[in-house]
Amino acid sequence: MKFDGKRFLEEIDAILGTEFGTTLSSAEEKEMYVALTKAVKRLVLADRKAPAEGKRCAYFSAEFLMGRSIFANLLNLGLLDDARKAFASIGQNLNRFEDVEDAALGNGGLGRLAACYLESAATMGIPLDGYGIRYRYGLFKQTFEDGYQHEEGDDWTKWGDPWGMRVERDSVIVEFADRSVKAVPYDAPVFGYRNGVINNLRLWSSEPVQPFDFSAFNEMKGEHTAEENFAATKICDVLYPNDNTMVGKMLRLRQQYFMVSASLQDIVRGEKRKGHDLRELDRYFCFQLNDTHPVLAIPELLRLLQKEGLSFEEAFALCRKCFNFTNHTIMAEALEKWDALALSDLLPDVYAQIVRCQQQLESDGLDPARCFIIRDNVIHMANLAIYVSAKVNGVARIHTDILKTETFADWYAVYPEKFVNITNGITPRRWLLLNNPELAHEIDLRIGEEWHTDLTQFRRLTPFADEMLPAFRALKRRNKERLAAYIKEHEGVELSPDFIFDVQVKRLHEYKRQLLNALSILYFYFGIKDGEIEEFPPTAFLFGAKAAPGYYNAKAVIKFINEIAKLVNSDEEVSDKMKVVFVQNYNVSYAEKIVCAADISEQISLAGMEASGTSNMKFMLNGTVTLGTMDGANVEICEEAGAENEYIFGATVEEVAAVKRFYCPRELTETNPRLKRAVETLVDGTFPDEKGMLKRLHDSLLSDYQPDRYLVLYDFAEYVRVKEELLRDYGTEEFDRKCLFNICAAGKFSADRSVKEYAELIWNL
Ligand SMILES: *Cc1c(COP(=O)(O)O)cnc(C)c1O
Repeated sequence: MKFDGKRFLEEIDAILGTEFGTTLSSAEEKEMYVALTKAVKRLVLADRKAPAEGKRCAYFSAEFLMGRSIFANLLNLGLLDDARKAFASIGQNLNRFEDVEDAALGNGGLGRLAACYLESAATMGIPLDGYGIRYRYGLFKQTFEDGYQHEEGDDWTKWGDPWGMRVERDSVIVEFADRSVKAVPYDAPVFGYRNGVINNLRLWSSEPVQPFDFSAFNEMKGEHTAEENFAATKICDVLYPNDNTMVGKMLRLRQQYFMVSASLQDIVRGEKRKGHDLRELDRYFCFQLNDTHPVLAIPELLRLLQKEGLSFEEAFALCRKCFNFTNHTIMAEALEKWDALALSDLLPDVYAQIVRCQQQLESDGLDPARCFIIRDNVIHMANLAIYVSAKVNGVARIHTDILKTETFADWYAVYPEKFVNITNGITPRRWLLLNNPELAHEIDLRIGEEWHTDLTQFRRLTPFADEMLPAFRALKRRNKERLAAYIKEHEGVELSPDFIFDVQVKRLHEYKRQLLNALSILYFYFGIKDGEIEEFPPTAFLFGAKAAPGYYNAKAVIKFINEIAKLVNSDEEVSDKMKVVFVQNYNVSYAEKIVCAADISEQISLAGMEASGTSNMKFMLNGTVTLGTMDGANVEICEEAGAENEYIFGATVEEVAAVKRFYCPRELTETNPRLKRAVETLVDGTFPDEKGMLKRLHDSLLSDYQPDRYLVLYDFAEYVRVKEELLRDYGTEEFDRKCLFNICAAGKFSADRSVKEYAELIWNL
């Protein structure tokens, strides 16, 4: 595409004039953002071609954690530098758009994965479109007040949603037993990297079927109407802020059905318009279910196809070919189950289809004691998905192995051919080219640009590793300076880029064990204070994490770490050795700034609990060593980079099972006085605890019925030993070489590889 900077600016100026009555020189940020986006859309969407004929994949997901689109889209369109220059020519800086809100329509890894897959599919030329919910409010905004997490609504469209396009004509009606609502789609383009491909993300918004009836309202008959309007819009009001936990709320069930019913009605209608025979739907579509949240799509499609005249048997056979299911967790508290009575009340026709599936299962001759969809009036959504789907995949090798041997062993015995592994990946465009342009440039200089769309090229970097060391050190240092400046501005804490940046950023969850990290900090702190530790490499311990608002222990960990930060940062005796910062409102945009500036990537979940993890991959790609357990994709990261280039500790999956049988955490604190002292700060008055939160954390470690369920104390000694080793290694040439070897070995973790595997193994595209 030929880019004409002057014309581009004229276009923006014209949009500013007609839409806001302002000009390039006087527009506010928000107006400028809308005008810039619209100008880009005009430039690239004007001659948009209809998608090619042939099979497409519909990726159904309750979450798409897109982050900020403006820079990523400009990058993929090849316009980022041009737009920068054009803005510079009128004395403006494109970075002003760093205040644009993230689209945080997701909780964490699962939603971010969906976003990476959309981008990678477009870049790989794979015909894949996303379908989800256009939440009015995304994941809450987090601040800290007195060390406690405080939540506020996330008004992500505050500056409008200029990438989104309302497609009124594609609206459909979604029916619940008690009311019908209108589903209106908003489409956002998904641009492939410099290849002209544009896929689509379609997010549904709920609205009342009838527009608000003022005359009825005025005649005092309106209360019902107002209530209906309220109930309809409420469905899409807010993203549930739970990550890896099931909440049995009816509104959540409504959201799930709303999303899949709207999407499938839309798709069925489209097929009919094209004159396609619905009996051949599998020739034109396949559906990927991103976890159990969209699994109601299965009974919904059965229902819709029978409405179109297919028999149950025909519809069922089609579903078996069209649906595929990705499992994201083995934790019991996250596997979705719905009360059969509640579901049949809300969606009687859908429920009837689920019952038919259960009957089909029994007539297939499966043992209903082992393989069931409905049991004791509870519907097991994962089982429904496994039973009907053509393929079921886990998201890292160790995770898929656990699915086969434990979580779904009974299903695996019946359908071994269904189970496949597809290790997660991340897009190297956002997670290297965009967030770490200096590193990307150094790589370009050595191996060219082919790696932008083929990350396996990174193996060719290995011979350049030594030669790249000085440049790598220098750019890492600049990234640390930039992050330190940002943290000073936003968190009010001063960090020296001379310190080691030890980072743990991810959702706050007991299984992810931020508490283990926190206790180690206190352990080092007391060691320094008592003179037991004489030399300690200056280290900044950085955290970023949101806790689900109802997750008490997770919120307690946030309070604990914030108190530790206060203690450490105000103690002048240790100020040349340690600092602790918990950044507020960790999100995709913060992640972009953090992963390129980290020296240590903390991936310390209890083995067997983290399905894959993807932030581990972001850090690796940016040249950070992993301090982690043999869990999720860490296993494959070690395999690719060589275990000698990571810092691994902790019980393995096999050990965890054995240890848990006879576990007594108190013995561990009694034999380690400094660890005991760190744990006792939860109850000995070191920190204020007016709400008794820290006390409960203490109980969870030592006196609950199942104390220390996540083996924090069991893994503590080895964690500290390996962490000390890492801190000692830091600054040596050998350590820097480890960082570079991680980059060289990161090729496998491109989402490009993942989506190609989906396309070949599952979608047959
Ligand atoms: C990548 C990412 C995650 C996932 O982190 P894990 O450590 O893999 O759990 C969560 N939140 C944000 C904002 C991310 O960018």
